[in-house]
Amino acid sequence: MLQDQHGRGVTDLRISLTDRCNLRCTYCMPKEVFGPDYVFLRKDQWLHFHELDRVVEAFVELGVRKIRLTGGEPLLRPGLVKYIEGMRRFRQIEDIALTTNGLRLAEKVGDLRDAGLKRVTVSLDALDADLCGRMNGRGIGPNVVLAGIEAARAAGFGVKVNMVVERGANDSQILPMARYFKERGVTLRFIEFMDAGNYNHWSLERVVSGREILDRLAEELEFEPVDVSSAREVAKRYAYKDGSAEFGLITSVTQPFCGGCTRARISADGRLFTCLFASEGVDLKPWLRGDALPQDELLGRLAAIWRGRSDRYSEVRSAATPRLGKVEMSYIGG
Ligand code: SAM
Ligand code: SF4
Ligand code: SF4
Repeated sequence: MLQDQHGRGVTDLRISLTDRCNLRCTYCMPKEVFGPDYVFLRKDQWLHFHELDRVVEAFVELGVRKIRLTGGEPLLRPGLVKYIEGMRRFRQIEDIALTTNGLRLAEKVGDLRDAGLKRVTVSLDALDADLCGRMNGRGIGPNVVLAGIEAARAAGFGVKVNMVVERGANDSQILPMARYFKERGVTLRFIEFMDAGNYNHWSLERVVSGREILDRLAEELEFEPVDVSSAREVAKRYAYKDGSAEFGLITSVTQPFCGGCTRARISADGRLFTCLFASEGVDLKPWLRGDALPQDELLGRLAAIWRGRSDRYSEVRSAATPRLGKVEMSYIGG
């Protein structure tokens, strides 16, 4: 079985379909940096879907069983629905999910379902309209996203909600968000604010630890941990004692999980990253475009990259690491 330097296989592939987005979340694409002059990838720099198919095919052969489509905002990528439909031919893939900011979810949900998508993760950081608008940098309140979530549930999707928690920004929303999604039986996942990218003014003081989130929830709600044996599980799961819903914690800062990290990531322009915090990826485009490599050679090169992988950024994070040049979240997709 294919293993990296720390004995980790490759089971998950995250594909960023565009680096563009219709929001400017403060922790991801702060509008001061990602303003009108910011130069995004040109569309001809995007990996074409048929090129992506070759990469997916190779990774499936190497062990990938789970695909997550992300961005930027993946619903902005033209041709997305057809692409998802085409993925059905990879029989070994057990799970395809999409992470979205939900702005255009309600209008796309029918097509996405017909294409065979079954799961979506929707990002929402506050129910309070002002706070929500501030966090997303565009002054957009939560209602459009909540409507997207409802539309997805009504269409039969498995829906999870991601909330990035940042001290002094939206930590007052931990309980209101928990109550709201508990009532509706939707899994809410609290994500520790990460030092991703280079522009989000991250500091450890602004991280609300998973431990603290649990303490705040325990002031009002009763819950217990859910036993999970899978090392692939990134979120720590909890269930409310009344059986109404689950919630999760993604503690990549305070309790890293590099030891079980079996994820590969592809940026919209076809770079392969073996860690979310890497500064450089391997450009796959020359292997896929023009004088393209035969499939077996492509597979061999991807396997060699994985075998050489030794990343464990979150475990070695230190005061100095946040200053290293890192890839942007909007580019690689979280
Ligand atoms: N635009 C889509 C969305 O927002 O869901 C998909 C891409 S977004 C980069 C993927 C996930 O990364 C989102 O759930 C977002 O909240 C999360 N994210 C972005 N920046 C982050 C940061 N600095 N710390 C923690 N999570 C972050
Ligand atoms: Fe866009 Fe998602 Fe980043 Fe927010 S988190 S700016 S919605 S890519
Ligand atoms: Fe995986 Fe890198 Fe995150 Fe560690 S820091 S869990 S290696 S992506």
